[in-house]
This record gives sequence, structure tokens and C-alpha cells, in this order.
Amino acid sequence: MEQDSKNNSLDKVRSHLQRECFNKLFIGGKFVEPIEREKLPTYYPATGELLHEFPRGKANDIHAAISASERAWAEGTWAAMSAVDRAKIVAKMAQGIEDNKEMLAEIEAADVGKPFRQASMTLGGAANEGKYWCSLGKALDEEQDLPVNSGGGKGGLPPEEWNVVYRRDPIGVVGLISAWNYPLNVAFRKVCPALIAGNCAILKPSEIAGLSCMFIGKLAHDAGIPPGVFNIVTGDRDAGVALTLSPSVSMISFTGSSITGSKVMEACAPKLSQVALELGGKSALVVFDDTDLDKAVETTMKGFLTNGGQICTAHTRLIVQDNFKQPLLNRLKEELERLPFCTNPITEKNRGDRAWEDGKTDVVQPVVCDSQHKKILGFLNEAKAAGVEILTGGGVPDEKVVGHSGGYFIQPTVLVNVGQETDVWQKEVFGPVLSVRSFSSEAEAVLEANSTKFGLASTVMSSDPARAMRVANRIRAGAVYATSTGEGILAEHPAVSRGGFGCSGVGRELGISGLHEYTELKSVNYTGFTLTDAKIEDAK
Ligand code: NAD
Repeated sequence: MEQDSKNNSLDKVRSHLQRECFNKLFIGGKFVEPIEREKLPTYYPATGELLHEFPRGKANDIHAAISASERAWAEGTWAAMSAVDRAKIVAKMAQGIEDNKEMLAEIEAADVGKPFRQASMTLGGAANEGKYWCSLGKALDEEQDLPVNSGGGKGGLPPEEWNVVYRRDPIGVVGLISAWNYPLNVAFRKVCPALIAGNCAILKPSEIAGLSCMFIGKLAHDAGIPPGVFNIVTGDRDAGVALTLSPSVSMISFTGSSITGSKVMEACAPKLSQVALELGGKSALVVFDDTDLDKAVETTMKGFLTNGGQICTAHTRLIVQDNFKQPLLNRLKEELERLPFCTNPITEKNRGDRAWEDGKTDVVQPVVCDSQHKKILGFLNEAKAAGVEILTGGGVPDEKVVGHSGGYFIQPTVLVNVGQETDVWQKEVFGPVLSVRSFSSEAEAVLEANSTKFGLASTVMSSDPARAMRVANRIRAGAVYATSTGEGILAEHPAVSRGGFGCSGVGRELGISGLHEYTELKSVNYTGFTLTDAKIEDAK
């Protein structure tokens, strides 16, 4: 009976995937076959069954997309439109996500293995974020031809009548390379600002799970984006490399691992093209002994189990005050060993990221694919061999506990008294694995939090607001949360810019700074006439 329901739900997703947009590349405004007609497979993480085969675009397809983009850029219609008008078209795409949320959530549940409920929530977030980006169209238009106070030449060489306005120009043809953990969200967070800023773009989604991203092509098509302004080439690493190496691509916006991020930067270095890199993390949760025990347990679970630990900001290092450690670990073990596994994410309508609503983490999803599963188990085996103590978990759950075989499940795992030099402390595992260390003083807590090369996000929990803020201010990360309740950790708001310190990234996403990443700042210097003479104000 249970098997029948799994088969039915998977068949339903396969029927969604019959649509043209999930089977072709989107180049020059048309859905086209990849030149070499090759395909890549994707599997349902809960069972390991084949889900779909999608086009494997290669370097020649990437070059075709770049040519289409170059033509659109040279023609200039898109860049010449006001940002507000471009945003109106992008807003239709955002609405398309909202209108197709159920189908897209089923696809992401099947592709990534995340509970339907969670996928649906985050896709709603993508649609809202898109609407926010569109509101920035007006802000960008208002920044055009903004007079700069040049000081009237005083104290410098320019003559008295020297005048300057700033403009924010689009960069040109930009490459967008995205990760699989929140496929559509990660991709759309690039597509919106790139297009609203007036660029022409080529999206290369992740080969591990990127099916929902392919729907953005249909949305662009239906919204009336001019041919070549937006293109999608699915494919693996080789397609990504071709995009980064092309001299015609003036910027790469990349979300993925730090190792790949550094390769992207290397590929862009000879041509000095721009990069924006959103990379990995190893975020710290610092817990002081004046924190409410229940809240500390819930926050720890949410921090390392959201999306199965496959989130760049996952709080995978717990740094707890000495005398609070044992009570916290005792409760954590109890709660984790009670957590059920999500055996059929596609139909999981009630559980999954309930932590966002009532603070309770309620289900453990499979990890995305066989290679990630093996990689995580490799970390655990290495930790065991190095003598790291396992409080709970540490491997694959029994088939009887999951209810069936073949899925990529990992037990929620807590490693205690972890050495600072070990891989499980220093490297991103990207699975449901938490490493724990303790501290005795505030200064030590800060040193522990800052003891990796990453700096993406971190949280400090204390009921003493002054201490929470003091410690938060000393943590080196692009986003820090100071809290007595744990509420809001991992939360993102489209108006709040974020990014990585150190190996966690280059540049900022979201907010006006995120939009500026897709523009070049230009100063237009003029003498001998006024802006009124130039009718700039009238044209605005
Ligand atoms: P990945 O680095 O393996 O791949 C990311 C993308 O790069 C894929 O589309 C892939 O095909 C492509 N790629 C691979 N090699 C390439 C190369 N040499 N040149 C160009 N493109 C190449 O990462 P992943 O496994 O897809 O994603 C997980 C990682 O993403 C984690 O490290 C996670 O922390 C990070 N991530 C970061 C953020 C953030 O906002 N900071 C958000 C989501 C995910």
C-alpha cells in the first residue's frame, strides 16, 4: 500500500516533467535540443529510483547561448528600457512561481528529497523575493544621473563648472551558476537582479538537482522577455567551466562550494571579469548557560537539521558553555533519537521545517544523492578513525526504521569533544552532522566561533542582551544572529544584504547591495551645459 502511494506520487512528478521546458535547453527565446543530444539522470533521494533524464548541455551549447545573449546585448533593447519596465516583466515571472507552486514543490521534493511542505514554503519565499527585487527597479532608476557633489572644484584641479552625475550601467552578458540545495530559490535570486539591472544572462543550474530551475525558462518565455536576454543551459561541470572561461561573459555570479568558487575566480582572472561568489560555511551556534534549555535544544536542531543540514548557513558547530554542555547534550540526544525519517518527501504535507512555525524540528529528510551520501559517510568514518566521540547517530539508519531500502538517509549525528583541527570541525560536511566543543569564558567562545576559514553566518544565544550583542559583534561572519530565544535564526529577508567573510564568499547578495553587484558604477562628467539643457530630468 505504502509502496503504491510512493509509485503514484513519483509518477505524478514524472508526468509534470513531460513538459517541454524540462526536456530542452532555453536559448534565444526558444526551447532547443542540446547539440549533442546527451542526457543526465536525476534520482529520487528517498528511494534511489530514476526520476528524470534532462539535457546535458556542453561547451557548444553554452557558446550558442552566449552568442544569443551577445546579439541581444548588442541590439540593446533590454538595457535601454527603464529598470521599472524590466521589473514589470520579471514580476510576471515571480507571479508564475506563485501560480505553479504546488507543481514546483512536488518537483523539488522529488529532485532534492525535501518534504513537500518545506519546498512549498521556500518556493513561496522565492516568489516574494522576486516581488521585492522588482520594487528595487524604481530605486535603480532613481539612482541614474544622480548629481555628485564635486565640491565645485575647491581643493582640486577641476574647474568651478565641473559637474558629475553617477550612473549604474548593466555589466553585459553575465553567467549565473547555481547550487542544488534550494534550486529555484538560489537561481531566481540571481536571475531577478541580473535582469532588472539590464544584463543579458545565461543560467547554468546544478546537475545534481536543478529541474525546478528549468521552469524559469518557460516563465521568461511567457513573460515576454526578448529572445537571448535570458537563456538556460543545463549540464554538468563542463558547461560551467565553458561559461566561466568565455571572454564574452563579463561577470559570473556563482553559488556553490568554496573549492569550486576558487576555480571560478581562477577562470575569470585572466580576462579580469567580475565575480560574485556565494560559497560554503561552517556556522557556529554559541550557547551561554543562561539560555532556556528547551530553546537551546530546539535552536540546535533547527540549526543543523534544516533541509537535512544541506544549507550553506547550517549551524554545524555547537559551542556551549562548560556547565551547560551536559544538560544540553542529554536533551539533544533524546530528541534526535525520537525524530522520524521522511520516507516519501513528495507527499509530506504536514511535516518538514515546522521549526519555522513552532520551533520544533519534526522530520529527517534523505540527503540529495548517492555521491553526497558517500561523502558524508566518509567524513563520519574518518572522525571515528580519529577517535572522535559519537553522542548519537554516526551512520545509515536501519531499513526497518526508514521503512524501505535504497534511499540516501543518514542518522542525525552529534560528535562531541571534537578537535579543532579535525575535518569535521574545519570542513563543510553538508549533511545532518553536528560537531560540539565547549568554552569557559566569553573570550574563548569568540575564539572558538572564529576558528575556521569560513564566515557565512553564526548565532549567539544568551538571556543577557548586552553579552549576546557583544559576542555577535566579535564574530567574523556575513550574518550574525543574537538571540535569547533562537527565533529567526537562519532567516533571510530580501532587503537585508548578506554574503561571506573569508572562504564563504566575495560580494553581497540581496538588498540594494545585491542589485549593485550586477551593475558598473559610472561617473559622467560634464561641463559647458546643465542637466536641464541635456533634458536628462525630462527623460527620467
Ligand atoms: P558545487 O560547487 O559542486 O557546484 C555548484 C555549481 O557549479 C554547479 O552548477 C556545478 O555544475 C558548477 N561547477 C562545478 N565545477 C565547476 C567549475 N569548475 N567551473 C564552473 N562551474 C562549476 O556546489 P553544490 O554541491 O552544487 O552546492 C553545495 C554548495 O553550495 C555548498 O558548499 C553550499 O554551502 C553552497 N551554497 C552556498 C550558498 C550561499 O548563499 N552562500 C547557498 C547555497 C549553497
